[in-house]
Amino acid sequence: MTNVMHQPDGDNELREAIFAYASARLDYNPPPLDGTVPFEELARTAGQTITEDGLGGREALRVFADVLGPATISTDHPGYLSFIPAAPTEASSLFDLVVSASSIYGGSWLEGAGSVYAENQVLDLLAREVGFPQGAGGVFVQGGTLGNLSALVTAREVAKERHGDKNLTIICSSESHSSIKAVAKVIGVTTTAADSGESGAIGYDAALAAFEQAEAEGLEPFAVVGTAGTTNFGIVDDLKGLAKLAKEKNLWFHIDGAYGLAGILVEELKPLYAGIEQADSFIVDPHKWLFAPFDACALVYRNPALAKQVFSQHGEYLEPLNKDPSEWNPSDYAINLTRRARGLPLWFSLATHGVGTYRKAIRANVELAHDIAKEIEKRDYLKLVRQPQLSVVVFERKGWEMKDYESWGQSLLEQQKALVLPSSLRGKAHTRFAIVNPQTEKKLLLEILDSMDESANRE
Ligand SMILES: *Cc1c(COP(=O)(O)O)cnc(C)c1O
Repeated sequence: MTNVMHQPDGDNELREAIFAYASARLDYNPPPLDGTVPFEELARTAGQTITEDGLGGREALRVFADVLGPATISTDHPGYLSFIPAAPTEASSLFDLVVSASSIYGGSWLEGAGSVYAENQVLDLLAREVGFPQGAGGVFVQGGTLGNLSALVTAREVAKERHGDKNLTIICSSESHSSIKAVAKVIGVTTTAADSGESGAIGYDAALAAFEQAEAEGLEPFAVVGTAGTTNFGIVDDLKGLAKLAKEKNLWFHIDGAYGLAGILVEELKPLYAGIEQADSFIVDPHKWLFAPFDACALVYRNPALAKQVFSQHGEYLEPLNKDPSEWNPSDYAINLTRRARGLPLWFSLATHGVGTYRKAIRANVELAHDIAKEIEKRDYLKLVRQPQLSVVVFERKGWEMKDYESWGQSLLEQQKALVLPSSLRGKAHTRFAIVNPQTEKKLLLEILDSMDESANRE
């Protein structure tokens, strides 16, 4: 039978065009920053792209290259400094193409043994760095939000046996990531926020106060989430203090390290994470600070059997997958079945470059962040909001309100120089540099700081 979706034999023209496009995109140094485009404009310029007869590959690629791609911000541009940028290594991006070309089923050992083996070596590396015992394990899921979801579902199922499932609540920080609240909503529990205070971190006392407040309100705390570190500030909670509370009160201890846990690869930063070795589960997003393409979150449990009891799917057609309990099925460790082997791009890049290269790259980001914090402190028109711990630097332009940051940020984007958006703390506007891209240089950051000085602008 002929496959109508396949290129005819010998006609590799489209394939070559696609490879040429991908190759040119990887060659950009830097890539164009590009920008957001209103719907009406895309409706005009791209128009209706899905037709009954198809546009043909060359034309579809042209529409992407000329219209859709430029309407998409390059998160790996060195001036992309908002949210958490992305900076995949070339090795990891290239291998993402291989993963696509290989049609790997990443859900089971039976189908994907080789790729599951490789992904698990990466999870083992992360588990060792964190100080988890042998036997720890998990799965790469789509993102931190879903990693937090699966970890906290496992926590809830464990807690149900003890407390039933009434009025359950998660103790977290007032600066925890929004995904913790979203997860709580999805799984039918609430969150109780501990006050992060001036430091931006919670520890034993703040978490205990939240615990007691929750109990006074008739709630049943079942988990405590430590953030390592926060997305807005890159500040790591006092994980030792949270571990102590978790032990005393019999709580599941989860670490949300989506952005900042990558820092544990740097020897000098390890003490910041002390206590994490006592956690029940952690997540870290390779697409944030481990130089891997979207979309990947490493989710690791101290005792993966607890997750397997929750997520393992059974059904007549699936039973061959469950026959040998010693085989590792990634689908057993999160709410997923079919999955892309999304840990492989990171695996390939780690195998290529070695972990030492990663340690150096992460350390360099942290050093740049600390360096730029000093530059901010030197300038009288700026105010550092908190001392950085990892690679996020938060600062205010004295006298500016939200709208000033917005129009200044808009002009940086129009100049195709940088994406620097405002954020805020307790209603006070500020802006931040999130530095995870090895191509982000001090020179660019200084130019951005200079552009906030109105007296310099007037010259
Ligand atoms: C980004 C982030 C998340 C959410 O991760 P996604 O991959 O965007 O779903 C959760 N927690 C923290 C601390 C984060 O920085």
